[in-house]
Amino acid sequence: MVEDDAPLDFYCMTCNLQFERLLFDVTRAQEKVHFYTEGRLPEVEIVEAEGIGVFCSWRCRRNGLAALMSAERVPVPAIPPTIGPIERCARCNGPVDMAAFHTTYSQCELTFEPDRTRVENFEYLAVLCRRCASIYESGVTTLEETSPIA
Ligand SMILES: [Zn+2]
Ligand SMILES: [Zn+2]
Repeated sequence: MVEDDAPLDFYCMTCNLQFERLLFDVTRAQEKVHFYTEGRLPEVEIVEAEGIGVFCSWRCRRNGLAALMSAERVPVPAIPPTIGPIERCARCNGPVDMAAFHTTYSQCELTFEPDRTRVENFEYLAVLCRRCASIYESGVTTLEETSPIA
């Protein structure tokens, strides 16, 4: 029987292998954490998540991560950040208020099953304070807006 779910094909950024189903991912996102009292677990609100790294295996991701993050101009700290409430910015080492919107880099494994996508081993790689993230983003915007404005 032919199922309706066409296999998703990916190409590993390290070894160029074509693969499907299990994806070793690196994501850049804008997030904020909602902290609650009364024993309720914190919730992470994510906007603008973008997959920036695609790898076939844990090994390829480890080998490709340094180049990927240096292209982002973000050093990966030896001790990965958690959800806060206060973490350290990977660029300037300043405080990042995790309860306000900030930029995060994370990695996880995605398993594509016919009816759902499973996320496993989610881990933060780095977080940026608003100032460092906005300096970077304004630089990107300038590059994109070089065409003359009528
Ligand atoms: Zn690979
Ligand atoms: Zn910073």
